[in-house]
Amino acid sequence: MALAIAGGAQAPGVSPTPADLLKDPAVHAALDAAKASERQTVEDQIRFCEIPAPSFKEEARGRELQRVFQQLGLQNVTVDRAGNVLGHHPGAAPRPHVVIAAHLDTVFPEGTNVKVKREGSVLHGPGIGDDCRGLAVLVAIVREMKNAKVQTPGSITFVANVGEEGLGDLRGVKELFNNTLKDQIDRFVSIDGTGVHVTNVAVGSHRYRVTFKGPGGHSFGAFGMANPMGAMGRAIARIQEVQVPRQPKTTFNVGRIGGGTSVNSIPSEGWMELDMRSSDPASLSAVDANIQKAIDAAVTEENARWGKPGTITVAKELVGDRPAGSTPESSPIVRSALAAATVLGFTANLGEGSTDSNIPMSLKVPAVTIGGGGRGRDAHALTESFDTTDAWMGTQHALLLTVALAQP
Ligand SMILES: [Zn+2]
Repeated sequence: MALAIAGGAQAPGVSPTPADLLKDPAVHAALDAAKASERQTVEDQIRFCEIPAPSFKEEARGRELQRVFQQLGLQNVTVDRAGNVLGHHPGAAPRPHVVIAAHLDTVFPEGTNVKVKREGSVLHGPGIGDDCRGLAVLVAIVREMKNAKVQTPGSITFVANVGEEGLGDLRGVKELFNNTLKDQIDRFVSIDGTGVHVTNVAVGSHRYRVTFKGPGGHSFGAFGMANPMGAMGRAIARIQEVQVPRQPKTTFNVGRIGGGTSVNSIPSEGWMELDMRSSDPASLSAVDANIQKAIDAAVTEENARWGKPGTITVAKELVGDRPAGSTPESSPIVRSALAAATVLGFTANLGEGSTDSNIPMSLKVPAVTIGGGGRGRDAHALTESFDTTDAWMGTQHALLLTVALAQP
């Protein structure tokens, strides 16, 4: 960044604000170009979306991002062990080191028709907003910073990451923070979803698959045997009585059950899947502990009812673990994210969500998730659509925030 041009009167150590950066000719040119080249951004968005990328099968889309990163001149373009694609924009110094990410994966299984249909300003296609918009904005930032020759004091790594959705369980960002760039990330931004918004509260979740087992037998001949589904029914009844705080909002849900072989067999197995959430780590642990207790008590009760201690056993498998956390409203990264919107003439609201930023927030690394602009509908449904009207606002917001965070 040409600091002398941007804000010569600044005291040493005071980073230029988004408002200061607007006066930098290179930044200004990049922002103008981000708006002017929105057509290219939308074309990228469609192209990325038409490459299938279910969680755990992101390689093909990842290869396309790798190709684009290389073509746009990012340095050290690599794919890490998890499949995250990284490209580096070196600054005058290695730190602060900013990571700007968007996720590659979608909730849609293999074989889903991902062809994008256009209807006026609206694009229809599974994954078009979540998160092909984020990927396209990520690429637009790289492209316009390069064309306008924007230089930064700190360094930026652009990441197209795997495993954000569902059972992906944030595995891409976990790998990034635990291995690939361990202890090297000072600020993190995920571009996820649509609109102009700033998410600074991470709703954490625990998900379990709970399996109850017993010997099973004939419903008439073996009557008197403890029943795994009996234990499960008791467990569900107890879970439904668990008390949770309204603030911070803490929730639980038994979402799926199954098991058994026939109406005239005592089942040998019953299973259920449950989900619990809170933005407060302590409340999440508390609801988790209460539900564990409810399940164990239900098993004891079922065995006692039939006088068969130890007959029914239970296994609780943690299939999803997204830590809760937050970045304070008063923190520089949140203030920059809001200021970047304001100086561009947009309004951004603060919100909460479950995104890739959950991981840095739980590690106390400053992080926010922002939208990529436009208007999204029906995310996670086959009818997903994206209205491109004024979507450039998201591109400008993300670009200005990226440059602002790469300041000392
Ligand atoms: Zn997403």
